[in-house]
Amino acid sequence: MLIVLLGPPGAGKGTQGAILQERYNLLRISTGDLVREEIAKRSELGRSIQQIVESGKFPSDEIIINMVSQKLRSEAKGWIFDGVPRTRIQAEMLDILLTQINEKINAVIELKVDEKKLEDRISSRYACARCGHLYSKYVKPQREGLCDGCGSRNFIRRADDSVETLKTRLSVYHEKTEPLIEFYKKKGIFHEVDGMAEVEDVTRQIEEIINALQRNKGLERKSMISVDF
Ligand SMILES: [Zn+2]
Repeated sequence: MLIVLLGPPGAGKGTQGAILQERYNLLRISTGDLVREEIAKRSELGRSIQQIVESGKFPSDEIIINMVSQKLRSEAKGWIFDGVPRTRIQAEMLDILLTQINEKINAVIELKVDEKKLEDRISSRYACARCGHLYSKYVKPQREGLCDGCGSRNFIRRADDSVETLKTRLSVYHEKTEPLIEFYKKKGIFHEVDGMAEVEDVTRQIEEIINALQRNKGLERKSMISVDF
């Protein structure tokens, strides 16, 4: 079973992906992480990706699908995809890739957001410096000043979390994602949930969709795709 979570940056896909990953025991492939790893390597590819990301844009479809393909082929079992597909072309490339390994996407779920609230959410976002767990003024650590994931006391703001970058990404998101949504609507696998609801409510809405799919066809493999950046 493969699920794609769609939504603009800050819609909570990372948070939901992490919860669902744990609940359904999945591996996670995050293109955001792949991109950050590549940048950290300071490879030639990493340096060119860094320039692209810092200008608020996304790496090309070829770069993204290549990184995902390498990862998919190196891991034998279920995954969460985190950050792909983001464009119609990526969706078509991903379909071909999945067909080659006898998989297909069962549901595409968009986290709908209010863009004003999203600006507020993203401008207050910060991450654990050690494990990368994300927080904001809406998603605080359970114990103040201590990371839920690893207990660290060090938090950082990510360089790509500015409101200006967000605005660029929102317009890119709409431009690129609307054809993608049409593509999946035609396949009859598109769903929407309210991404501005409380974290637990968003999870519950997603689980209802997954549970309905499980009732309908039974699950051979627990795999999950989500989108975040
Ligand atoms: Zn942590």
